[in-house]
Amino acid sequence: MASIEMRNIVKQYGDGYPAVNDVSLDIADGEFMILVGPSGCGKSTLLRMIVGLEDITSGDMVIGGKRVNDLAPRERNLSMVFQNYALYPHMTVYENIAFPLRLSKTPDDEVRRRVTEASDVLELKEHLERKPANLSGGQRQRVAMGRAIVRQAEAFLFDEPLSNLDAKLRGQMRTEISRLQRRLGITTVYVTHDQTEAMTLGDRVCVLRKGKIQQVASPRELYEQP
Ligand code: ADP
Ligand code: ADP
Repeated sequence: MASIEMRNIVKQYGDGYPAVNDVSLDIADGEFMILVGPSGCGKSTLLRMIVGLEDITSGDMVIGGKRVNDLAPRERNLSMVFQNYALYPHMTVYENIAFPLRLSKTPDDEVRRRVTEASDVLELKEHLERKPANLSGGQRQRVAMGRAIVRQAEAFLFDEPLSNLDAKLRGQMRTEISRLQRRLGITTVYVTHDQTEAMTLGDRVCVLRKGKIQQVASPRELYEQP
């Protein structure tokens, strides 16, 4: 687990108006931070700079007290959960969850221990031998989170993870993500434009507009003010 501190972060693509324009934001250890704002306001760019998939033009990105500007994604120990879950269709649930541990050549008994632990938390124990095609959307999402858990990532990053799901499943997944995040106490940054998600999931909501922070507030302050 780790805090995420952004100091005067700027992202300039080409010579246009900066996509992210002097953003400073502290996300506490274990906090659930929501990023909202109109399309094009810089939410995805900011998330991609946290995870290291996008270079930072200027400013400092500090994760767990360490400046990470020059670290590659694999050196940051964060976990991005994508909209399409990015599961391997030919692998079982077990192997999908174990994948990051295989990459880092973790010994088999350690892999077994960590995958069992994660599948316990995620209630996937009965599904370990199944393939992603035979899972519900919610179960697939949990497998994606399982991968993040076994890596013992310091933070979860979500980019509109529920936007492809129907309303009923979206509601269920909202509850699950919330439950898991509280249980794991893992620092989370979550991009959405769904007000219900922002209201129910976030400890705080950061509103972006044209690359700048317009407001940072609790969901209550933001949505229930008269
Ligand atoms: P959001 O996620 O809030 O919709 P983005 O972060 O995707 O916003 O985009 C912010 C701004 O940066 C937009 O004006 C967008 O057109 C621009 N942008 C995003 N990615 C690129 C890119 N790879 N090259 C050039 N401009 C980009
Ligand atoms: P390369 O080594 O080819 O430059 P990267 O540095 O982009 O590749 O990614 C290498 C590793 O970084 C991946 O195996 C993965 O573990 C991690 N990684 C890449 N993208 C992400 C992401 N969005 N979220 C979490 N980890 C990532």
